[in-house]
Amino acid sequence: MDLNELINLQRGPLTDVVAWLQCQQLLANPLLCSQCNNRVMEMKQRNGNHVDGFFWRCAGCRKRRSLRTNSFFEEFPRVSLVALLRVIFYFTKDDSQRRIAETLKLSRSLVSRICRRLQDMCSVDLQQRPIIPFGGPAAVVKCDESKFNHKAKYNRGRRPHRQVWVFGIITTEYSPARGYFTIVDRRDAATLCPIIEQCLLPGSEVHTDDWGAYRNLARLPNVCRHKVVVHARHFVDPRTGVHTQEVESCWSRLKLGLKRKKGIRREDLQAYLDEAMWRQWRGGDHTQIMINFIRVFPQHFNVNTPAL
Ligand SMILES: [Zn+2]
Repeated sequence: MDLNELINLQRGPLTDVVAWLQCQQLLANPLLCSQCNNRVMEMKQRNGNHVDGFFWRCAGCRKRRSLRTNSFFEEFPRVSLVALLRVIFYFTKDDSQRRIAETLKLSRSLVSRICRRLQDMCSVDLQQRPIIPFGGPAAVVKCDESKFNHKAKYNRGRRPHRQVWVFGIITTEYSPARGYFTIVDRRDAATLCPIIEQCLLPGSEVHTDDWGAYRNLARLPNVCRHKVVVHARHFVDPRTGVHTQEVESCWSRLKLGLKRKKGIRREDLQAYLDEAMWRQWRGGDHTQIMINFIRVFPQHFNVNTPAL
């Protein structure tokens, strides 16, 4: 879907919007009444200028339910369906929350809440369709850790730790590279090796810098070869050609995104990393990303669950 299609949808009758959302399984089609043996409920026009224009009514027990029952849209009842769809669209285009709020004339805090829920959808999808393990015999993967800053929770009292380590494993099978990123409390072998074991298929070749935690990497069952570049001496090992540049560029892209957001709280950092992973692995090219993202919703919101 592109912006023109979205704007045409917005200009047209509300029934088109509802039909489109039903077609994508984002709204019930139709809603069933659990009290009346899952009888099909009827979509009725609302009086006045209610934001949805319609509601569900059971012809048996006469109960009424919101058009948005069981859906993502139920969480933001005051925002029109099209406006929420447009937030989803701009989110998938990686527009800043400030710009989304300005374009749609919504408050920053509302847009921030909506986007946070959309990030959660990325995390849910990564759990349901895991990206790990990856790598394997044909793959070279690169591991690295990087220090991320985060916003302090409180601006008073003793200054808390404002930095956190993120561990990344990226595979060079794809261009641009795709990876797995996770917050770690420590960056010792006891912490990093189990993550590497979880993430890699057997037969992977691993490149790292000479950080001590990687010393015995070749002993891991899924690592067939381990090569090292000594960063104190050079970025690309002149003898072996080993480097970790793909992972460095992942770090700089991730940090640029955070800079644009003017920082992030620690509790939001993993969701941010999950969103980045989702984009790399599941987003597809920019013409497909909106549709690919919308396909995630039915895993999380079963709109056809019979209504109580
Ligand atoms: Zn009923």
